[in-house]
Amino acid sequence: MEINKCLFLLFSPLFLIGQNVNPFICGHEYVLDINEKSYPGYKAAIQKTFEAAYKNIDDQHSRNDIFSIPVIIHIVWKNNEENLHDSIIQTQLNMLNESFRLQNSNRDDVRDIFKAVQADASIEFRLHEVKRLKTNTSFALSLSGLPDKVKQTSQGGSDASDPDKFLNIWVCKIQPIPIIGGQILGYAYPPVGLDNWPAGSTAPSKNLEGLVIDFRVFGSNNPNKLTVNGLTHNALGRTTVHETGHYLGLRHIWGDGGGIFGGSSCNADDGISDTPNQGAQSSGCDTLSNTCIDTLSGPDLPDMIENYMDYSAESCQNTFTKEQVNLMRVVLQNQRSQLVDARDILVAGSHVSILPNPASKSIHVRPLPEFGEYKIEIRDLSAKVVYAQNNLSNNFELDISTFLNGFYLVSFISEHGVQSCKLIISHD
Ligand SMILES: [Zn+2]
Repeated sequence: MEINKCLFLLFSPLFLIGQNVNPFICGHEYVLDINEKSYPGYKAAIQKTFEAAYKNIDDQHSRNDIFSIPVIIHIVWKNNEENLHDSIIQTQLNMLNESFRLQNSNRDDVRDIFKAVQADASIEFRLHEVKRLKTNTSFALSLSGLPDKVKQTSQGGSDASDPDKFLNIWVCKIQPIPIIGGQILGYAYPPVGLDNWPAGSTAPSKNLEGLVIDFRVFGSNNPNKLTVNGLTHNALGRTTVHETGHYLGLRHIWGDGGGIFGGSSCNADDGISDTPNQGAQSSGCDTLSNTCIDTLSGPDLPDMIENYMDYSAESCQNTFTKEQVNLMRVVLQNQRSQLVDARDILVAGSHVSILPNPASKSIHVRPLPEFGEYKIEIRDLSAKVVYAQNNLSNNFELDISTFLNGFYLVSFISEHGVQSCKLIISHD
């Protein structure tokens, strides 16, 4: 389909109202379509990367390692309400960690038919730094481009921190397309194996890797609300979970085959074997929805509104499947391997503990005997080191009575790597 026509149809408010289509969408298709236009061969490269990753699922997947990804949050704001408070950023980190560790409070809401495929991705996210930048620039999606200006200081945005080593997340107000309207919640660039790149074409800059999220759907306690065509999006922080899924190689569960137009395409697939064949995006929490009758590989399954890669309401999303998890972990060991270099891979099981937690007066740090020499660093939410101590080898007690209330990240650095855990200090 010719791209401009495609975008016009997608964004026409009249079309959206008439078809009962969810107006809160992610920009995944635009990333693919617009980049294909700018960089011919982009879609083919993405497809080859996906196939290469999927081929490696069985032999490369290690269930024992927890991958830990350092995150840089860029808050690029124009009006005060866009300059989100640290507490909102904290809820977003919590939602990412709960979702990718299957510790979300609604995990047991998954229907029985999908229980066997629900999986813990064993991926954790730790806040490395929050960068705040006031700007006069607006970031709008257009018929021909993504609002990637937000990723460039020279364009009124904030330059990426090393995109090989950090997951960069830009939070800003994403403006609708002028005149036509339409709203995306966020978008992410999927992984591309550059060796797959067709000869003679250029790749998008590495510095554009990462997520862009609208400030009104970031975090789970955000007082700002996004309303389109009279409908308000109930944001719980799962847009960022969904976009992180794209960033780690996942596609929409319905395979993007005609679904956004309200039509159904059971021939398009997400390439993942343990998600049901689904012909269209969901909206809301309709457990009766079953867009494809598919009995070839077993009993027919309904649409999986529980899946983070659907467009169902955030309140009913609670699951990545085993194969989705496997694919993301293969990507983390290949295309995005520098995000989780050996130093940052946490061995399952704890080498060191902090008690009590939450704490008010002091904490007791207890390493296992084989932990050996280590150093400790405590960072606040802005990633500033507020306490550091080298050459430790035994239990010790730390007075934290002068620390401010709040959330801290405690890192233990030893020859085993880095183990990090969250510490909550509350003097109340
Ligand atoms: Zn998406």
